[in-house]
Amino acid sequence: MEEREPRTVLITGGNRGIGAEIARAFVALGDRVAVTHRGSETPEGTFGVECDVTETASVDKAFTTVERELGPVGVLVSNAGMTADGLLIRMKEEQFLRVLDTNLAGAWRCSKRAVPQMLRQRGGRIILISSVAGLLGSAGQTNYASSKAGLVGLARSLTREYGARNIAANVVAPGLIETDMTAGLSEAHLAEQRAQIPLGRTATADEVSGAVTWLASDAAAYVAGAVIPVDGGLGMGH
Ligand code: NDP
Repeated sequence: MEEREPRTVLITGGNRGIGAEIARAFVALGDRVAVTHRGSETPEGTFGVECDVTETASVDKAFTTVERELGPVGVLVSNAGMTADGLLIRMKEEQFLRVLDTNLAGAWRCSKRAVPQMLRQRGGRIILISSVAGLLGSAGQTNYASSKAGLVGLARSLTREYGARNIAANVVAPGLIETDMTAGLSEAHLAEQRAQIPLGRTATADEVSGAVTWLASDAAAYVAGAVIPVDGGLGMGH
């Protein structure tokens, strides 16, 4: 394993699911790990801070607290996300905007708050957790898929703005991962999905974290504006 100085890593929505596994992976690497939550426990070894990514003041307060307790954020993992599915013709505008506000604007707010400190530190890495749905499209998820596709534009634009200052953003696009988010899917739907996945199975949350820690590592120093699928081959070709 590579030897390096511990960094301050901030993971939004790291209290459960994929975010919690990402947090555990960074803790295992010896980094100082801050995790945002909305009133729950956070994984062992992490510094928990309350944050709602839909509120600029809440994002600012969380970053300020983390900077004070652990030092400036060198790695931001924007993972907080939600779904509110429905067919387009039945979807309320509020339902569309709520998902965009959390998944896309939330990532934008956190990136905006992180970058000035990264400029001062002369470098930083931003990793946005998107989804295969953003690239393949997904019936019943016009809101979610739009928000997740938007993260690609966000990462690539950020990288064009600040790449020369050693700040790069990349995207991880998971496929079907067993978490609370997918727990409500029916067995019939899951079976149908599995049939589309070349590896023939869904994945556990800890199978996503390796791509994230790698993108934050020196081994990936020249990877910028990339979209890394972790989807068992479901989105191959996008
Ligand atoms: P979970 O539903 O298990 O966890 C979602 C996390 O996001 C929770 O920590 C939740 O906090 C947090 N969150 C939601 N809204 C906000 C908000 N407004 N402010 C702050 N935090 C918020 O989902 P997963 O772990 O499955 O998903 C994590 C990420 O991975 C999401 O971005 C998701 O879209 C993406 N993803 C998931 C896939 C899957 O199959 N599971 C596939 C592809 C991508 P709280 O606990 O307080 O609700």
